[in-house]
Formats: sequence, structure tokens, C-alpha cells
Amino acid sequence: MTVTNKTVLITGASRGIGEATARHLADLGHNVVLAARSGGAIETIAQEINDAGGKALAVTCDVSNWASVSDLVAKTEERFGPVDVLVNNAGVIDPIARIDESDPEEWGKVVDINVKGVYYGFRAVLPSMVERGEGTIINISSGAATGALEGWSHYCATKAAVLSLTKCGDVEYRDKGIRIMGLSPGTVATDMQVKIKASGVNPVSQLDFSSHIPPEWVAQGIAFLMTEGGDAFRGTDFSLKTDEGRRLAGLPEA
Ligand code: NAP
Repeated sequence: MTVTNKTVLITGASRGIGEATARHLADLGHNVVLAARSGGAIETIAQEINDAGGKALAVTCDVSNWASVSDLVAKTEERFGPVDVLVNNAGVIDPIARIDESDPEEWGKVVDINVKGVYYGFRAVLPSMVERGEGTIINISSGAATGALEGWSHYCATKAAVLSLTKCGDVEYRDKGIRIMGLSPGTVATDMQVKIKASGVNPVSQLDFSSHIPPEWVAQGIAFLMTEGGDAFRGTDFSLKTDEGRRLAGLPEA
């Protein structure tokens, strides 16, 4: 089952999972909108997609700012029409620190990006999705949403809040035709894992880089959730760590 010709808005598309997702979904024939703070990086990726015959738009956006997210959705609608799929992917883990040594301001900034950023995305696209009676929102989650790891209190607490938003959104909008789900990828070979390794804190930092899955696999998982097969995971996190998840996404088993 494939889904074609949708307008997909991807936050955090300047590198890592977001970049791979934008490239993969453009290859599948979707209009893609790349959003991140690094305007130069998303412009370059969007240009490469367009040069290869795809349809991409880059919009500089800070997801921790409501006006910026609202403007992102307005620019998307202006170019491609309403957002069919929102991928709430932007997220940060730094600075990694135990609670007693953490900087309260930096801790709060992670909440602004990882939690408020996801809520702002919901808030900006849902009115139009409700009006049209359709739409999909995919939140990039983590095992940290249900686990606890030393030095990651900001990340675990914010990913738990994102899982809660996935559940709350599903409760409010399932009967209005809107599909809301999370995707928990396991560990992925991106800049985020470089920062985790450099911290030396907790067992995740000790993992060999070769044990992480490539970001392109997460892009495939997102493409799967966009299809009808993803319906089974509404209101919850779809995991790429399980054999079932890998099989459904067309990936090699764990
Ligand atoms: P990454 O390579 O560090 O990419 C993070 C992306 O988020 C970048 O494009 C960054 O762009 C963007 N971003 C950060 N703050 C932003 C803001 N305020 N506004 C807009 N964009 C912002 O990390 P990644 O591994 O691809 O992470 C993507 C998502 O996957 C995150 O939600 C992360 O928590 C989740 N995840 C990752 C792993 C893993 O092992 N890598 C595992 C589970 C879940 P700019 O800096 O240009 O703004």
C-alpha cells in the first residue's frame, strides 16, 4: 500500500532523520517542506531535491517559537496547499547533565523545543485538518519516553510528554479522521548520537556507532506510518526496535 502526492511538513530537516525523511518522501513523489533553524542547510537540501525532479520548499523555523511555527504552516499552505502530514521530528538532547548539575535555563530550552515545539505543530495544522476531516501527524519519539537514563532527565521527561501528546491528540481527533502516532526508532546514526557518545554518560554513550540504524531506515518507518498499515499504531509509539516494526517498514529484522 503506498500513499502518493501528499504535502508533508518535516521539522528538524537540516540533517539526520529529518533530512533523510525529506529526501525519501520526495523520492516517493510527495511535496516536502523542510523546516529547521539552519536556513542554509535546508535551502541546499531542498535545492538538491528540486534539481532531482522533486518538489521541496525550505522554511527557516524555530519550533520553540509559536509565531515561527505558525508562519511555517502559512508558507507551506501558500506554496503547496494544506498540510496533509506533519512530521514533528525536531528535537535536542544537549546539554547532557545530571539534575543537580543541570542549568535551569538550558533544561527549560529543551522543554521549549521538544515539547512546546510538538504542541505548536499540532496547534498550527489541526484546525485545517479538522475542517478537511483528514490528516496525519507523526511524532518522533524515543525509548526515553518510557525509560530513565542518567544525565537525560530533560530528554526523558520531554519525550514522555511527547508520547502524552500523541495519546491526547488521538483521543481528541481520531473520530475526526486524523491519524496521530509516534515513532520510536531505537538508536540512529546522527549528530545526536555523536553528542551522546562525547558525553560519556550512561550506557547509550558506550554503544559502538556501528550499532545504530541509518536515518534512512527511520524515513522508511515514517513512510509506512503514512499508509493504512500505520492505523494500528494510532495513539501510541510504533517501534523500529521490534522485528514486527522492522518487517512492517520493509527493513531487515533486528
Ligand atoms: P540531529 O541530527 O541532531 O537533528 C536534529 C534536528 O532538529 C536538526 O535538523 C535541527 O536543526 C533540528 N532542531 C533542533 N532544534 C530546533 C528548533 N528549535 N527548531 C527547529 N529545528 C530544530 O538529531 P536526529 O537524531 O536526527 O533527531 C531527530 C529526532 O529523532 C529528535 O526528535 C530526536 O529526539 C529523535 N531521536 C533520535 C534518536 C537517535 O538515536 N539519533 C533516537 C530516538 C529519537 P537546526 O539545528 O538547524 O535547527
